[in-house]
Amino acid sequence: MKIGVVIVAGGKGLRAGGDVPKQLQRLGARRVFEWSVNACLSHPNIDQTVLVVPAGQSRDYYQTPPNGVQMVAGGDTRTASVLCGLKALQFGDDDIVLIHDAARPGLGHDIISRLIEAMSTADASAPARKILDAVKRKSGTQLESVNRDNLYRVQTPQAFRYGRILSLLSNTDHNYIDDLAALEANGANVRLVDGTPQLAKITEPGDFRTMTHLLAPVSSIPRIGFGYDMHRLEPGENVILCGISIPHSHSLAGHSDADVAWHALTDAILGAAALGDIGDHFPPTDPQWQGADSAVFLRHAIKLAREAGYTLQSCDLTLICEAPKIKPHREQMRQRTAEATNLSLNNVSIKATTTEKLGPTGRREGIAAQAVAVLSATEHTA
Ligand code: MG
Repeated sequence: MKIGVVIVAGGKGLRAGGDVPKQLQRLGARRVFEWSVNACLSHPNIDQTVLVVPAGQSRDYYQTPPNGVQMVAGGDTRTASVLCGLKALQFGDDDIVLIHDAARPGLGHDIISRLIEAMSTADASAPARKILDAVKRKSGTQLESVNRDNLYRVQTPQAFRYGRILSLLSNTDHNYIDDLAALEANGANVRLVDGTPQLAKITEPGDFRTMTHLLAPVSSIPRIGFGYDMHRLEPGENVILCGISIPHSHSLAGHSDADVAWHALTDAILGAAALGDIGDHFPPTDPQWQGADSAVFLRHAIKLAREAGYTLQSCDLTLICEAPKIKPHREQMRQRTAEATNLSLNNVSIKATTTEKLGPTGRREGIAAQAVAVLSATEHTA
């Protein structure tokens, strides 16, 4: 038996504010729709994930969808879009499909597993939460209490047998509020499983902040990157380390200003955000980087990381050399690094060591540097 997921990301999402639909807006480390896609891709029982996007807008979602994700164009209504997603699956009648709204980014593996388990004894299954507030029906200025026993808020994903939901949605022009609604008239055996607050739907601008807090245990996991570099020493007058020119009997050889410390830090930042290395972004063969100030590399790495949803929080550099002495320049190097990275001084650490005259650094053939960078998911500010 196969298990697939259809994630519907078709809405305009205008009520949530912002320049782009809510499902494309950033929420912590990734865009809203990517949270659900990632949950499905990493769940061991999901065979196929279909992302339904507005016709003609697939490039706003993925240039190239990740392995295991199929992107299809949706229809004019939610139900029509779900149908487009179902048709892309081409499953057997008894296979299971979960239908999910991209505007609910807090989808966890626990929910997916509960739904799959519930389907062993049910025609359909959905996460739901009991209504705990008092419920009133308002007419004019009059209120009437509604008995809230057996009242539920129903969330997504909703799970179905593939053949049944495909047939029901294929034979209707109705735009259902959710997919369970299509089964209700047919006396289906529906099992509700425990929903979660994290599965709430993003509807209004304030929901982004609420959701950032709800997803904080996931999105606040720091990203750590490590960088290493070494440059050769050749006769000269000074070395540039952390943007500071230090008088010396030698200079560092290199295509740019050969600031080995900031190169290591640039690599650490790119590494923390999984964005490749300094050579990918600034090829040494490219003449425009001849003699370049390494602050350019550093700032560009920070910008790329920010675009990927990460903010540099702190860094720790170790310079490895016999000479020049680093300590007299250390505070100035911290200061310059803090300026270049927009970090406060107490988040910039610079250390130095010799290698006891051993190896290339010990023989004064070169200077090496190591760097560690800590990045956090960027807080959504809408
Ligand atoms: Mg280098």
